[in-house]
Amino acid sequence: MSKTIAINAGSSSLKWQLYTMPEETVVAKGIVERIGLNDSIFTIKYGEDEKYEVIKDIEDHEIAINMLLEQLTTLNIIDSFDEITGAGHRIVAGGEHFKESAIIDDKALALVDELAEFAPLHNPAEAKVIRVFQKLLPNTLNVGVFDTSFHTTMPKVNYLYSIPTEYYEKYGARKYGAHGTSHRYVAERAADMLGKPIEELKIITCHLGNGASITAVEGGKSIDTSMGFTPLAGVTMGTRSGDIDASLLQYLMGKLELTNIKDMIDILNKKSGLLGLSGISSDMRDLQNSDTEAAKIALEIFEDRVRKYIGSYVATMNGVDAIVFTAGIGENAVDIRKNIIDGLSFFGCEMDADKNNVRGEERIISTDDSKVKVLLVPTDEELMIARDVEALKK
Ligand code: ADP
Repeated sequence: MSKTIAINAGSSSLKWQLYTMPEETVVAKGIVERIGLNDSIFTIKYGEDEKYEVIKDIEDHEIAINMLLEQLTTLNIIDSFDEITGAGHRIVAGGEHFKESAIIDDKALALVDELAEFAPLHNPAEAKVIRVFQKLLPNTLNVGVFDTSFHTTMPKVNYLYSIPTEYYEKYGARKYGAHGTSHRYVAERAADMLGKPIEELKIITCHLGNGASITAVEGGKSIDTSMGFTPLAGVTMGTRSGDIDASLLQYLMGKLELTNIKDMIDILNKKSGLLGLSGISSDMRDLQNSDTEAAKIALEIFEDRVRKYIGSYVATMNGVDAIVFTAGIGENAVDIRKNIIDGLSFFGCEMDADKNNVRGEERIISTDDSKVKVLLVPTDEELMIARDVEALKK
């Protein structure tokens, strides 16, 4: 039977999910962590709750993928490699070139490499993994699914920064956004759940995980999103600051005696957000379980920034039909969803406390009378990747 593997490769990890297509059944999934470090962890989940795990040094992605293919046959998940007819690779930066998912041939792969300038930690690792697939599974179709593609429909008014236009023209300095696959998936599901064509809807999707972004989806197209040139911009996140006055960087670099801007950006990416504000953790659950003043303020700031973006996108679209919550926080944090929506009553949003009392389940969580519908839609980027591969196999 024809199978498609959805791959999400990071610099030291490789997450994957194997589907039987077109049935969209997950036959196995797994993760390889700590690639390139010692005691790498290799896990496969398959069958009825069965698990295979091994801890050993895995030097690079090629060795990880070799192990994976070998185990898929050893564990009888597949009979032969030929069954894997498609591989969908999540790629962080697609720039302006990749407006949708694309078959990755040598020319496309060279472009993915070129775009490493926009995502230096991600694109090179992803390109490397595609090369390994080309080598080990020469008959498998490789497809790139880009985090940025869904946002390539943004109009100039929303993607240009108010800096000299030549920086955009010469260097590509603009907003690209991220989490596109997730925003696309949950917006489409929301339209289905509401029983309306997406072309007629104004939807605001809130992907609230460790990384978080908000998108304005009008007529099924992203027209604005909170992340920017990189995923550092937008709302407060686990460890990222979100939007900030650029002049503060110069001031703080002086105070902290930093000479390299990279160190400053590192602080904004890795030591800020909920972690920096609370001084406790980047994990939302830790903050909810803490009774310190700093944790309480961090939570309030998070809710405020999300609410502000929703409000601004109501203005961008001159209206909104539905607000969608997804990802770790959006799917599970009942109180945070409630607090965000309670502050938007002016726009005609009203949460139903009983319906909202749910985690990780597709559901409309606003009252029947709420003018704006509020939905909980668990995201499924892997499925979206597998579907895109399927569409390009034809
Ligand atoms: P990533 O961006 O790493 O994929 P996730 O989408 O998994 O992140 O989201 C991780 C976030 O979701 C963490 O801040 C975590 O605390 C939060 N989260 C997960 N479960 C819950 C829960 N039950 N209540 C509140 N927050 C939760």
